[in-house]
Amino acid sequence: MSAQLINGTELSRQLRAEVAQRAAKLTALGKQPGLAVILVGTDPASQVYVRNKVKACEDNGLYSVMEKYDADMSEQELLARIDALNKDPKIHGILVQLPLPAHINAHRVIEAIAPEKDVDGFHISNAGLLMTGQPLFRPCTPYGVMKMLESIDYPVRGAHAVIVGASNIVGKPQAMLLLQAGATVTICNSKTRDLGHHTRQADILVVATGKRNLVTADMIKPGAVVIDVGMNRDDNGKLCGDVDFAHAREVAGYITPVPGGVGPMTITMLLVNTIEAAERA
Ligand code: NAP
Repeated sequence: MSAQLINGTELSRQLRAEVAQRAAKLTALGKQPGLAVILVGTDPASQVYVRNKVKACEDNGLYSVMEKYDADMSEQELLARIDALNKDPKIHGILVQLPLPAHINAHRVIEAIAPEKDVDGFHISNAGLLMTGQPLFRPCTPYGVMKMLESIDYPVRGAHAVIVGASNIVGKPQAMLLLQAGATVTICNSKTRDLGHHTRQADILVVATGKRNLVTADMIKPGAVVIDVGMNRDDNGKLCGDVDFAHAREVAGYITPVPGGVGPMTITMLLVNTIEAAERA
C-alpha cells in the first residue's frame, strides 16, 4: 500500500486564492490588511522565512512592511518599534521572527505585541484563549495542519491523535486544536518512554521535533494519517522532515511530504490570521 499525499503546496494555492479575494474586499472598503514582519540579526534561515512571508503578502494583495535590524539592537529599541506598530492603523498583524539574539528576552517581546495583532498567536492571552476553547488566533503551523485534515475530510472526532513534540509554537497548540475538534490526544516529548508504543496507536500522528528520521515505518499504525512538521537537512543538504518518508509512505494511509507539506501551509495561515485581524479591526 502506498499512502495518499497531502499536498500542502496545492492546498495553499487554493486557500491563498480565497485570501486574495478577502484581501481585495477589505481593500475596496479602505482597509487593506497589513502585516509587519520584524527581523533582528542575520540568521540565514530566518531571512528566508521572512522574505517568503513578505512575498506571500505581496502576491495576495496584503500590505506588508519588513523591518530588519542589526543583531545588536537593544530590547528597548525593539519594544519601542512594537509599540509604534501596535498604534499603526495600517498594520493588523505583527510578527517578530524567532529566534531573537540572546540579549533580547523573547517572552517580553511577544507580550509587548497587542494581542489583537498577534497573528502568530504566541501571546499569553492568546495561548490562554486557545486553551479555554475561544481562540482569537490559532498558531499558524497547527492551524495549517487542521486545514490539511479538513482537506481529506478526516473524521477527527473520536480519533486518537498522537503528537510528538511539545513546543509552545507547534506541539502544545496542536494538541489544543485537536482536542477541541474531538480527538483523544496524547503528547510525547524527549522523555517519553517507548515512543513507538504511543505512535503505533495513532490514527493521526503529528511529528514536530526537529529530529530527522525519528519516526520510522514500524512506529506507524497501518492506514494512519502522518503529518510531518519537521524541517531538517539531510547529508546532501536537502530539506527533509522528522519522518522516514520513503518507508513510512508504505504503511500510512495519508502522509505529508517535506518539502511541499506543512511548510507552505504555515505561511498561508499567517495570511489568513492577518485577514481575520483586519476583518475584526
Ligand atoms: P522545539 O521547540 O525544539 O521543540 C521540539 C520538541 O520535540 C520538544 O518538545 C522536545 O521534547 C521534542 N523532542 C525532541 N526530541 C525528541 C525525541 N527523541 N522524542 C520525542 N520528542 C522529542 O521545536 P519546534 O519549534 O516545535 O519545531 C519542531 C520542528 O518543526 C523543527 O524541525 C522546526 O524547524 C519545524 N517547524 C516547522 C514549521 C513549518 O512550517 N513546517 C513550523 C515550525 C517548526 P522536550 O520538550 O522534552 O524537549
